[in-house]
Amino acid sequence: MSIATDAQPSKKAGAENGYDAAAMNMNCWVDGKPVSSENILTVYSPYDRRIVGTVQLVNASHTELAIRTALKGGPRLSRYERYSILEKTRQLLMERKEEFAQTISAESGLAIKEGRYETGRAHDVLMFAAIECLKDDGQIFSCDISPSGKARKIFTLREPLKLAVAITPFNHPLNQVVHKIAPAIAAGTPVILKPSEKTPLTAIKLAELLYQAGLPHYMLSVLLGPTKEVAEILVKDPRIDLVSFTGSVAVGKRIAETAGYKKVILELGGNDPLIILEDADMDLAVTLAAEGAYRNSGQRCTAVKRILVQDSIREVFTKRLLEKTKEYTCGDPADPETKVGTVIDEQSAIYLESVVKKAVEQGAKVLMGGKRQGALLEPTVIVDVPRDAQMVMQESFGPLAPILGFKDIDDAIALSNSTDFGLSSGVVTKNMEHAIRFVKELKVGTVNINEVPGYRIESSPFGGIKDSGLGIKEGVIEAIKCFTFVKTFSMAW
Ligand code: NAP
Repeated sequence: MSIATDAQPSKKAGAENGYDAAAMNMNCWVDGKPVSSENILTVYSPYDRRIVGTVQLVNASHTELAIRTALKGGPRLSRYERYSILEKTRQLLMERKEEFAQTISAESGLAIKEGRYETGRAHDVLMFAAIECLKDDGQIFSCDISPSGKARKIFTLREPLKLAVAITPFNHPLNQVVHKIAPAIAAGTPVILKPSEKTPLTAIKLAELLYQAGLPHYMLSVLLGPTKEVAEILVKDPRIDLVSFTGSVAVGKRIAETAGYKKVILELGGNDPLIILEDADMDLAVTLAAEGAYRNSGQRCTAVKRILVQDSIREVFTKRLLEKTKEYTCGDPADPETKVGTVIDEQSAIYLESVVKKAVEQGAKVLMGGKRQGALLEPTVIVDVPRDAQMVMQESFGPLAPILGFKDIDDAIALSNSTDFGLSSGVVTKNMEHAIRFVKELKVGTVNINEVPGYRIESSPFGGIKDSGLGIKEGVIEAIKCFTFVKTFSMAW
């Protein structure tokens, strides 16, 4: 496996699809207007360092204006109007899907294949959120069902929050953003978005689509600027009802400490295992391991970060994974043949190199890959990884495939549960009894049998426990609930 590039300026892979990106000069949005400022953020391609775009940044006074605009509000949107805005946004996204895919790839270094895949996921999020607007979400409780009950009924209804804040990470520049904004709109809750500084362009483009689709200005502002003047003010402000955050454990825990009296949703890091039992379908196990470890350059919170293989099949599995890894061409993200683009920046690639080096010092062996060029890191297969290696105890956000052996199911469960994280997991087995044991005993938010840990649909509940999150689920339907509060009313019946 070698890096198929010498980091020449990127190929214009999208041109054949009718979109040819030039550098984008963009603005934050407050009160429905683009904000002009002399403080400029430049976004560089992680692959060849060309300028992908710029954003004019805001300051603390814009943050205050965004809060006031949202709280002042405007005409309350009916369910049908919320449905129509989300549905229209979905249509506009599909008309411009190649442009979005290319923007994702250009600013994040992810392969264009991944940009196109992510655009499809965002389509689903918008579709499911629009559908939810049309469903009633109330419940009815008859009170005469207890011996002392009265002839009354209690009804529930969900009311929007005054104002929510959404803070998103870099690794899915579109999907992470739409997973917070679409449910907020479906709930009727105004939201201030603070996207990642590393991938702001896709997020701003999405906001522009929403305005184009008719979203009232008070419902969404987009802010980027110094942490002290934007993110920290938003997290602490008592006028805000909810902070919905996806990102690293360190920042998530800081938010938990500083947010004060408000709802906080934290979707944090992971180091998900793929557990392969000796009765597994070997072709499937190899495919899931490679897809789970290398897709999105290994930068998914639910990427396979540890491949746990029963000792009796470890040798043959390793041989097969080495063969499979050759298919994951690493190089120019704009090339349609590239499967693995860069990680987010050179510093992250250097960090990944360092954790591999430390594991090797502890006795691990790199069997394939491991070479780095700038922010490109080859898919890397590593064996004999000690159970306490930093690479597997902490989150390694890149295309690494560390293989660890286990003796039996008890050992696999103990090993799997031995880290601070608890996001998701995959188990490859043909034995139903074994599968059920893992479902019951793994301390995680999700157990996928014969699938990668990251498998889900956009509307299903999603989220982790332990350091991966507080156990409050997202996914379109659960997230809409988070962006509302339940009011009850009762009357004689
Ligand atoms: P990050 O460094 O934690 O940044 C996430 C967001 O927080 C960015 O918008 C960042 O802004 C902002 N931020 C930074 N300091 C802040 C502060 N003091 N207060 C409030 N906000 C602050 O995470 P990342 O490196 O972008 O993303 C990778 C991480 O996200 C990984 O750990 C990954 O596992 C996790 N993730 C989790 C899930 C999940 O659902 N569990 C999904 C995807 C990713 P700036 O860009 O301006 O610094």
